[in-house]
Amino acid sequence: MSKYWSSLVNQLQPYIPGEQPSMTNITKLNTNENPYGPSPLALSAMKSLLNQDLRLYPPPSAGHLKEAVARYYELNADQVFLGNGSDEVLAHIFNGLLKQSEPLLFPDISYSFYPVFCKLYDISFIKIPLTDDLSLDLNNYKRPNGGIIFPNPNAPTGRLLPLKAIEELLKENQHSVVVVDEAYIDFGGQSAVVLINKYANLVVVQTMSKARSLAGMRIGYALGSAELIEGLERVKNSFNSYPLGHLQIAAGIAAFEDKAHFDSTRQQVISSRDWLSDQLKTLGFNVLPSAANFLFVQHTHKSAEIIHEQLRDLGIIVRHFKQPRIEEFLRITVGTDVQNRQLVSALGGLLE
Ligand SMILES: *Cc1c(COP(=O)(O)O)cnc(C)c1O
Repeated sequence: MSKYWSSLVNQLQPYIPGEQPSMTNITKLNTNENPYGPSPLALSAMKSLLNQDLRLYPPPSAGHLKEAVARYYELNADQVFLGNGSDEVLAHIFNGLLKQSEPLLFPDISYSFYPVFCKLYDISFIKIPLTDDLSLDLNNYKRPNGGIIFPNPNAPTGRLLPLKAIEELLKENQHSVVVVDEAYIDFGGQSAVVLINKYANLVVVQTMSKARSLAGMRIGYALGSAELIEGLERVKNSFNSYPLGHLQIAAGIAAFEDKAHFDSTRQQVISSRDWLSDQLKTLGFNVLPSAANFLFVQHTHKSAEIIHEQLRDLGIIVRHFKQPRIEEFLRITVGTDVQNRQLVSALGGLLE
């Protein structure tokens, strides 16, 4: 608290990201980064820009990246909105599209940034409980609302909804904006992008941080009708004209062009996920079915908090949420084969 802060700032409860430890000899399975680095084409595109031209402001609309994203998803460039990571894109969506007189709906167990944005922008919301097995049932969202947002696959559960269920919700809910946060969709889900030209109230949010392995560059985007995207551009141009620098724009374009790297690395993550899931089941964990690059697991008799601490002592960091309903779960990012084997052998020792 400070008397110099505004009353809003005094009331904020900021989002707490997973830690980024400074130690290097650590097995970091806590923030869902992709263990296989970015496309070499993205790296060389950035290197070629390290010169005096960085004195110039970047193009404010990052048009070339917009066109590359539009081409990839078979949309028009005016259906693409770009931001400094999808967290920034989400912030503008909350502010510009989801602040309405009726409350916003999102799951009780979900991306914990959503309630933080609601506080920041003074948006009323209702958390809709996941079912007992931590599934998202969109039938529970068919009620008066000023907007709906959920991740697909959901985080931190990893569970995936079929496209059919999302379309059914869109059919029933045409009066407010529906946002599908697809941070993990490229690890095995079917994207709702194909519904955009059919439903003018649908926004799909994606990021280059996870499947495209560029978390350090901060590139996110929203896809939707030109009407919704124009609203987001108005918010962005009232906030920061240049959210993406020259390096981000170049890295993004190159990463979208390098389909081979994208496909081979995500396939590797998917097959490692299936291997790790089997191993964890053998060790006595219940493992929720995951379509993401992480597993959400609960041990049959050992406390998640203790496992979390003991792994930490061995230099392996996973994520534990001290939150009702999920205190007994750990969220484990799928790593390289070496990291996954190290985790399994450490757990084997702890659980003996
Ligand atoms: C990682 C993540 C994001 C944010 O990604 P950035 O583009 O790195 O800001 C958004 N939503 C969900 C559900 C995520 O897991």
